[in-house]
Amino acid sequence: MGWKDGLTGRIVEQGSNGYDEARRTFNSRLSKFPKLIVYCLVKEDASNAVNWARKQGISFSVRCGGHSYEAYSVKDQGLVIDISEILHLRVDKRTGLAQVGAGFRLMPLYEALWKHKVTIPAGTCPSVGVSGLTLGGGYGILSRLLGMSCDNVTEIEMVNAQGKVIYLNPSNHIDLFWACRGAGDGSFGIVTSFTFRVHPINSIAHYTMTWNSSEVEKVIQHWQSWAPHADSRLTSLLALSAHHQGDLVSKGLFVGGDKELHELLKSITKYVPPQTLTVRTASWIEAVRLFAGRPVNQAKFKNTSAFAYEPLSATAIENIVKNLKRAPGPSNLVALDAFGGEISKKSTDATAFAHRQALFMLQYQAYWERDSDAAKNIQWVNEFRQSMLNHTKGAYRDYCDSSVLNWPTEYFAENINRLQRIKERYDPENMFNYEQSIPLR
Ligand SMILES: Cc1cc2nc3c(=O)[nH]c(=O)nc-3n(C[C@H](O)[C@H](O)[C@H](O)COP(=O)(O)OP(=O)(O)OC[C@H]3O[C@@H](n4cnc5c(N)ncnc54)[C@H](O)[C@@H]3O)c2cc1C
Repeated sequence: MGWKDGLTGRIVEQGSNGYDEARRTFNSRLSKFPKLIVYCLVKEDASNAVNWARKQGISFSVRCGGHSYEAYSVKDQGLVIDISEILHLRVDKRTGLAQVGAGFRLMPLYEALWKHKVTIPAGTCPSVGVSGLTLGGGYGILSRLLGMSCDNVTEIEMVNAQGKVIYLNPSNHIDLFWACRGAGDGSFGIVTSFTFRVHPINSIAHYTMTWNSSEVEKVIQHWQSWAPHADSRLTSLLALSAHHQGDLVSKGLFVGGDKELHELLKSITKYVPPQTLTVRTASWIEAVRLFAGRPVNQAKFKNTSAFAYEPLSATAIENIVKNLKRAPGPSNLVALDAFGGEISKKSTDATAFAHRQALFMLQYQAYWERDSDAAKNIQWVNEFRQSMLNHTKGAYRDYCDSSVLNWPTEYFAENINRLQRIKERYDPENMFNYEQSIPLR
């Protein structure tokens, strides 16, 4: 009898072939050394892994795409239960539902759904895992029309802390189903399959606008009074880069035609005429590839977030400009993602994702290559977020940040109390734990 008896799936042990690849985290700022990684092929492998970990008294983490900003899906000296090889997909166009294996990364999922001319609203990065993204909320270029990814989940298949397979939906394990739509990442169980409501999609229009960096104040001001209130078929993003390197860029996706999009854009372009403006039509899948950009394999970064519930004042905008000017690296930026539309139609406590009434989300981002640049970039991100606290609220769970001190209320606002009660009921021994898992009271 070996010590791994009872574990099933594809096992990669510390020191064995492929271990370095298997332990790797997307954010190469962080490096972790688990004892074992088990790749689950079916839900029973996840069940066996939980039961085995309990018997061995070994702590574990759950991993899908491995894109956690703080590498929370890999535990030092623990077991990584990896579900990225659970990849079934069944689309039923009659009911408008799709059963999606929880291991999908976004691009392969978009591509597979495209064969049926349907999609879900989800993120832009092609290699992000559908599990981590959806369980923490899930924002993307269709969110103002179709809501957050978690809003489109109708059922979840989960292996719980007792190693049992349970099904969560609006009439079964109602509380846990609520919790998993915004706070389900790694705190309650291992999701092995989602049922998503899928949406027919075909061609779309998209735009890119740029302005000269000298217009930054005006651009922020007009963008924020336009983008969160625009036609909900349009989702718009604004990127402000450090040192005003390059232009100010806004991009967006519109589920409609190019002429109509041109008209909608006039609400901003008449106030701040862009240097360049392109509007194009494309198939949905071409747009997905376009927004995905170039593939990134290894990146050292520190990102964090906050929400603007009110338009930013002139002082707040001045503060953004000041922080961008003093950025330690040329790749640093702040990105603004418009909310409103379908996201805001649900109340704050409709699901665990709380920040629905925000006008937009801010993401402060620093990237670097040499380890010696890490400290100053991390400091810049932390100070940037701190300096905006008088003008913003909360933080986005999917952009998890170990430096956010009061993270339970920052991520979940008043929903944290209900989340803790659910945690106590479903995982009283705190089997599913990491630095920012839902704490027991
Ligand atoms: C380059 C990049 C681009 C991004 N773009 C977007 C975007 O456009 N929109 C957006 O909303 N977010 C975006 N994100 C954030 C992303 O949604 C989160 O990082 C998300 O948590 C990643 O999910 P994952 O499965 O890849 O990561 P993982 O590291 O595998 O998991 C993240 C967390 O979820 C838990 N988890 C994973 N799988 C399961 C499961 N099956 N059951 C239970 N818990 C699980 C893990 O334990 C961990 O705590 C982006 C991130 C990166 C790095």
